[in-house]
Amino acid sequence: MIKAQGYAAQNAQSGLAPFTFDRRDPGDHDVVIKILYCGVCHSDIHQVRGEWGNSTFPMVPGHEIVGRVTGTGKGVTKFRQGDLVGVGCFVDSCRECGSCKEGVEQFCEGGMVLTYNGVERDGKTPTFGGYASTIVTDENYVLRVPEGLDPAAAAPLLCAGITTYSPLRHWKVSAGQRVGVVGLGGLGHMGVKFAASFGAEVTVISTSARKEADARRLGANHFLVSSDPSALAKQAGSFDFILDTVSATHDVNALLGLLRRDGTIVLVGAPEKPLPIGAFGLVMGRKTLAGSLIGGIKETQEMLDYCGEKGITSDVEVIPMQQVNEAYDRTVKGDVRYRFVIDMKSLSV
Ligand code: NAP
Ligand code: ZN
Ligand code: ZN
Repeated sequence: MIKAQGYAAQNAQSGLAPFTFDRRDPGDHDVVIKILYCGVCHSDIHQVRGEWGNSTFPMVPGHEIVGRVTGTGKGVTKFRQGDLVGVGCFVDSCRECGSCKEGVEQFCEGGMVLTYNGVERDGKTPTFGGYASTIVTDENYVLRVPEGLDPAAAAPLLCAGITTYSPLRHWKVSAGQRVGVVGLGGLGHMGVKFAASFGAEVTVISTSARKEADARRLGANHFLVSSDPSALAKQAGSFDFILDTVSATHDVNALLGLLRRDGTIVLVGAPEKPLPIGAFGLVMGRKTLAGSLIGGIKETQEMLDYCGEKGITSDVEVIPMQQVNEAYDRTVKGDVRYRFVIDMKSLSV
């Protein structure tokens, strides 16, 4: 076994504190990764605080992992010692179902193995995530991170990046389209960067008027404050596509009103409580309300390579592990520009 140091929650009220645990010795196809950085996703907060009702403890969160390979099993062909690599939201899947064969392992019919708060394919060993010194992962679920990217700023690409890139690609967002991004947080700011890089005309729809200058700097052409009904009314029926990244209860019906006929709104945000939807907002104008979950390994690699070519990364605030509980509170308040990333060096000081 390999000793790992990390931070874990012991229950939904405890917050995170130091925790020592074991990683498996590398099997034939495993890669041993020294973790350099791990992003703080709002999903970590939902799960650490038990908001999705499926939390198991102790929980070592973290699924925006970037690190260097320090060892490989004897059958590993894709990676070598020293490579800069990433691990995202899942670390295994059945590899046999239609979804796995089509490269959308996030929809594995047998259930993907989540990077944390999950169980390995043996059905019993709990998985622990990236708020830790090291991780051991099957090479088929490890991503190559372009060396040209700042590794701290690249970490959020492993979840916030792919979660926004995938629906924009799936719904073929392209030049000339009017795209709205709702919520300028970790996911939202990546959605703005990608949609702008695909040539779309981007509007950020935010609760916070104070984020306007940032939205424009990140690539948005327009900015709407969601609490201003007259500003929304002026834009009614004008959007082709809306990416909704909001982490809390909010009014989706008002957003449906912004879509043109046949327009689509995709939820990627996963609030704790159900969202009320009025039928008329959908039937009038034949609108589509859809959802999307992260992305498969193949598309995640495509997204990382695209980011390498275009120089796209997250805007990050790098913190020591010791500040993670405070970072959670600040994220919930919308007080982060635009993703906290934990520097794993802080574990050994
Ligand atoms: P985040 O950084 O906290 O950003 C969420 C943004 O939502 C905030 O910055 C804020 O933007 C807006 N917001 C927050 N509370 C709101 C409210 N009451 N009403 C309206 N807007 C509000 O979170 P994140 O890491 O981007 O994650 C966002 C959500 O996506 C979370 O629920 C997370 O679990 C989920 N998620 C889903 C997937 C997936 O695969 N589908 C993957 C990762 C995360 P403004 O200040 O601009 O209003
Ligand atoms: Zn995430
Ligand atoms: Zn499968």
